[in-house]
Amino acid sequence: AADAAMYAAKDRGRGNFQFFTQELNRQAHDRLMLITQLRQAIERQEFVLYYQPLVDIHEGRIVGAEALLRWQHPERGLVAPDQFIPILEETGLMVTVGEWVIDAACRQNAIWQADGVPPISLAVNLSAVQFYRSDILKTVQSALQRHQLDPQWLTLEFTEAVLFEETEPVIRTMHRMKQIGVGLALDDFGTGYSSLSYLQRFPVNRLKIDRSFLRDAEEHDGSADIINSIIRLSQSLGLISVAEGVETSTQLALVETLGCNEVQGYLFSKPIPADEFTRLLKSGLPSTLPLMCNH
Ligand code: C2E
Ligand code: MG
Ligand code: MG
Ligand code: MG
Repeated sequence: AADAAMYAAKDRGRGNFQFFTQELNRQAHDRLMLITQLRQAIERQEFVLYYQPLVDIHEGRIVGAEALLRWQHPERGLVAPDQFIPILEETGLMVTVGEWVIDAACRQNAIWQADGVPPISLAVNLSAVQFYRSDILKTVQSALQRHQLDPQWLTLEFTEAVLFEETEPVIRTMHRMKQIGVGLALDDFGTGYSSLSYLQRFPVNRLKIDRSFLRDAEEHDGSADIINSIIRLSQSLGLISVAEGVETSTQLALVETLGCNEVQGYLFSKPIPADEFTRLLKSGLPSTLPLMCNH
């Protein structure tokens, strides 16, 4: 944004230089404010996890959930992750918050299991910095141990961005994760640069198809073709395919016809707080949902 302001300043001539200096100062100031507030948020424990169900298309029931980070800001209310995760990543604070996320997710899943609802696999998103700047394996193992959670009920989601630095160590860590028995999911699949060449090196068991394809599928046949290709690819590699961002029954019908295994999206539920998710687990999905299971 600073660069953009500089270019704009050039375009508009030197007369505006002072204005843009002020603008840059304001941006720098806002950023510092945000960093300070995020440090306080860690101390004051203002982060919460919301949960969104993953639905098995064939069985028509909730088989998993994704834990999604929210910031319960005292004045601004609930803040979405794209508003603060980039800053947490740049400042390295994501390591601390990420450890909290893993711990909180394992704790919550253990609570659900103790509650006697059918067990679900809970997915947690990992940032690249957690691979580079922390012993992520140890963090995961100790959280599982602390909450007496069987590794099969934890899934770690990451995007291919984790490979931008230190490719070999990251892939080794993933193999260790797989050995421990946790699930691994490649998130936002299809949007990166090197998806195909790296795919065979990732020991993942799930491919999550980026929701941009489904969003565009009704207008562009090309997007439906890409979804189809990703599902075929998943099948030939023995992976579970997940369609993200299913909002309409038309979209559900499309991915079901193409043989997708699992779906996630507003059609079933938006991400919701733990207590609401507990109720959803106990009541099951509303039978009014147009799930096209074969029974
Ligand atoms: P993601 O991992 O791809 O998560 C899915 C995002 O899609 C979530 O956004 C979810 O609310 C949204 N979504 C799900 N279904 C639909 C739908 O039907 N329509 C639309 N329009 N959106 C849908 P959210 O919660 O805002 O999270 C955004 C991103 O922030 C996540 O994308 C993930 O990359 C990141 N994130 C969230 N929590 C964490 C975390 O604990 N750690 C890290 N490292 N990243 C996180
Ligand atoms: Mg995710
Ligand atoms: Mg995603
Ligand atoms: Mg994403």
